[in-house]
Amino acid sequence: MLPVVALVGRPNVGKSTLFNYLTQTRDALVADYPGLTRDRQYGRVKRGGQRNFFVVDTGGIVETELGIDEQAMRQVRVALEEADLVLFLVDGRDGLNVGDEAIAAHLRRIGKPVLLAVNKLDRPGQTLAAHEFHALGLGEPHPLSASHALGIDDLLDAVRDKLPAEDPGDSADAAPGIHVAVVGRPNVGKSTLVNRMLGEERVVVFDQPGTTRDSVYIPFERQGKPYTLIDTAGIRRRGRIAETIEKFSVIKAMQAIEKAHVVVYIIDAREGVTDQDATLLGMVLEIGRGLIVGLNKWDGLAHDHKEEIRRQIDLKLGFVDFAEKYFISALHGTGVGNLFDAVEGVHAASMLDMSTARLTRLLQDVVAAHQPPLVRGRRIKLKYAHQGGSNPPTIVIHGNQTDEIPGSYKRYLGNAFREALDLHGTPVRLEFKGGE
Ligand code: GDP
Ligand code: GDP
Repeated sequence: MLPVVALVGRPNVGKSTLFNYLTQTRDALVADYPGLTRDRQYGRVKRGGQRNFFVVDTGGIVETELGIDEQAMRQVRVALEEADLVLFLVDGRDGLNVGDEAIAAHLRRIGKPVLLAVNKLDRPGQTLAAHEFHALGLGEPHPLSASHALGIDDLLDAVRDKLPAEDPGDSADAAPGIHVAVVGRPNVGKSTLVNRMLGEERVVVFDQPGTTRDSVYIPFERQGKPYTLIDTAGIRRRGRIAETIEKFSVIKAMQAIEKAHVVVYIIDAREGVTDQDATLLGMVLEIGRGLIVGLNKWDGLAHDHKEEIRRQIDLKLGFVDFAEKYFISALHGTGVGNLFDAVEGVHAASMLDMSTARLTRLLQDVVAAHQPPLVRGRRIKLKYAHQGGSNPPTIVIHGNQTDEIPGSYKRYLGNAFREALDLHGTPVRLEFKGGE
């Protein structure tokens, strides 16, 4: 599983600036959807050959403990509980502050490994200002300028030194067949669905003791084919609803998404699409997994309500419009069989082999149908394409001035490739070579 780093600090010290820098994705298709990257708190840090990790911006313990938003506060607590490392950010221009001391005391109490970073040291020679933070008793302070991108590489090295060693034989990766993660907010019907999907065909359920962030991996067969269900709800749980909400963990959901080939994301059609649904679906897109959205509890809904839900999906979930949608009732089993066929199709699309010849021919057709724009009098040229990876299908496009391609044209390219290659249910990633 990917390790988790929680970003902690007083308001205004630069947490979200650092978060954005660390998680900035080169995938302009993602960045271009309004509403998706705004107020992000959860992201994946992915750099070169280095080890990846998840980062969570806690948005300031101090703020949230004042009770601004109960749900957010709960997630801060969960994030701290589940973090492998806390990255504690302070403001080097403000100097040591009582707020910092309060947070330091809190961090010492919970006993997590902590890395202290002193931000806003924008001039290279300014690192002396970090010294006074030794007084926090949290070890060597790391000088940083999040907005000027100074000290980031050293900080990342220090983070990686402090993370637990990588598990060489991650059993999750070795699980058989297509990995299907069932993800969604508490009480939307995940356990009910998992039980439905396993039905009679359930084979073994491991009793896997673990932390709250571990999902249960259930290998099973259907019509002679192997699958592994990644169950974030825990099918044997019989707790009260309050308890399940308390235990809900975005990090756990992210880990499950990361390990999945295909995500079945469940929304409670009675409740509608919530902000947390958008956050989690944003992670599916960012991580790049095949996606099936199940609108559950469709049984007995009034016609007007159904129309309203369809409207909400179009309005709020435009950024995952590639996903297949199913209206289901886990309780009655309606539509659940279709999910399996959908999983097969989406998995096949996400793993499709695309030859260079085919991709290049497609690129030429697509460009001929609609030319990229002129930049300072010169036409952007796109010459050839090849496959750069699977799950998600990644298409590398070579040309010149590709840094200047507008978002709208990238979307046009993405959609054209998706359509021509029938890449349904999976995000498609485009990478561009030849920026100048
Ligand atoms: P948060 O509340 O901890 O998430 O802080 P923000 O990331 O919103 O940053 C607060 C303010 O500090 C913003 O105006 C940022 O532009 C500024 N800021 C963040 N990092 C730096 C830095 O390294 N140097 C300087 N000079 N300003 C920074
Ligand atoms: P989880 O927390 O996501 O695992 O949700 P559960 O599977 O525990 O379901 C929460 C509640 O919703 C339970 O009372 C279920 O019986 C109910 N529920 C689940 N699926 C459906 C459905 O399709 N229709 C209706 N009406 N209720 C459902």
